Amino acid sequence: MKQLDEAFDRLLGHPRTEEQLRIYGWSSIPAGTDNYASYTEFLPEELRSTDGFGVCWAASRFSAAALFTSPAVADDHIAAMRRGESRNLNVDTDVEGGLDVWPTWGPWERAIPDKPSWTKDNEGIIAERDGVVVYETHYTSPFVEDASPRPIVTWHCQICHASGKGEEYVYQTAGERHTIGYEAGRHLVKGHKFTASAVTIPEAVAEFVTRKTGRYMDPAVLMQCKVCPNVEALRALQ
Ligand SMILES: [Zn+2]
Ligand SMILES: [Zn+2]
Repeated sequence: MKQLDEAFDRLLGHPRTEEQLRIYGWSSIPAGTDNYASYTEFLPEELRSTDGFGVCWAASRFSAAALFTSPAVADDHIAAMRRGESRNLNVDTDVEGGLDVWPTWGPWERAIPDKPSWTKDNEGIIAERDGVVVYETHYTSPFVEDASPRPIVTWHCQICHASGKGEEYVYQTAGERHTIGYEAGRHLVKGHKFTASAVTIPEAVAEFVTRKTGRYMDPAVLMQCKVCPNVEALRALQ
């Protein structure tokens, strides 16, 4: 028997508070589940149980973990969540190991309970430092006819106006936050690159943002970059 805490420590660092760690749900996959073998064939040997297993889907701000336990433990947590009970993380359970990603392939896609969001309704800022903002928002591809807005996670630098290619990271699992967080961090480490962007944003947007956020936004800055006002609007949601 191991503490769930130990597994969190190993896979997610030392997140403890609700602000640092979120449990998105539990899955129970008993032996005899349809296509049972296809759940386990991707797993490392030590996680390949023939007796069924449960999974706790957990994530911190820039990491994700699938923690494995028995179906009985998972069923217990699923029932507790349905009753609206929240449980202390420091619960004694028989977690056997974990993956430091959320598997999304094959039958796993259906096993993940919900698409995760770090912000309310996938709209808002996840983290920022020295002008680099990592955020969630919705993106409509200009290249797809009748495309509906899809949740993405991406980053933007408000100093040099460099951006992550957020449209390529349609938000399916907490693992995408890890990728984007890594890219944003690399931008900070490598230093800002200054390039002139197209002038597309009217001064009216700057006035709107200033009014909405209560913080003065220099129109000259907005004129350089079409993403910055989006970031300011997301900031106003916090
Ligand atoms: Zn910008
Ligand atoms: Zn920059």
